[in-house]
Amino acid sequence: MLYIVATPIWNLEDITYRAVRILSEVDGIACEDTRTSKTLLSHYDIHKPLISYHSHSGKSKTDKIIEQLTSGKDIALISDAGTPGISDPGFALIQEALLHDIEVCPIPGPSAVITALSASGMPSHHFLYLGFLPVKKWRQTLLRRISENKTETIVIYESVHRIVKTLTQLSEYFGADHQVVVARELTKKFEQFHRGTLSEVALFFEENPGKVKGEFVILI
Ligand code: SAM
Repeated sequence: MLYIVATPIWNLEDITYRAVRILSEVDGIACEDTRTSKTLLSHYDIHKPLISYHSHSGKSKTDKIIEQLTSGKDIALISDAGTPGISDPGFALIQEALLHDIEVCPIPGPSAVITALSASGMPSHHFLYLGFLPVKKWRQTLLRRISENKTETIVIYESVHRIVKTLTQLSEYFGADHQVVVARELTKKFEQFHRGTLSEVALFFEENPGKVKGEFVILI
């Protein structure tokens, strides 16, 4: 069995009883960065063989995990934070597992997209999750396409390096007066929701470089 286990997006308490039990019972845990995962696993006194599995892991790494699964072992896949496969590795391994008739079992838990959306105050019955926007030319094409026909809340992941640039660019496509929520440092000590128009929030981050820190979810 391949378990897809969601882990905290920061706060170590945000993990389910079931996730802790599964992680304690499996034969091995595939994870992105073994050092990051060790912090979580030792907090819960879980000591299992770790298999490094990240975005640059090629087919041979996937095949090794599949070998273990077909030999009858149970493996859990976790990522550095949140739900594996959501802007994180997972898809290739899951596809390969299914091709080999290996059962894939989700163990639900945190994801930044749902955490941000749930408290954003933005309409949340329908939403479009874009993950990280592409960095190259396709970015403009995508922004033009979604701005022309926006019917639901759009959720975007962003890093510290591009937050101001992305807010400024969103303001060009959606209009400076369009409402935005930027959820920053979710579940961390300095968690903040910045609400306002795109121009206001972009200006806030430009004028407060001290707040351009950590991890961001943009909702428009
Ligand atoms: N798999 C993760 C999930 O389920 O949300 C997402 C991993 S993705 C590599 C990392 C991005 O998720 C960050 O750049 C940020 O946009 C968002 N993110 C993750 N943790 C966050 C947090 N604590 N606060 C705000 N955004 C976060």
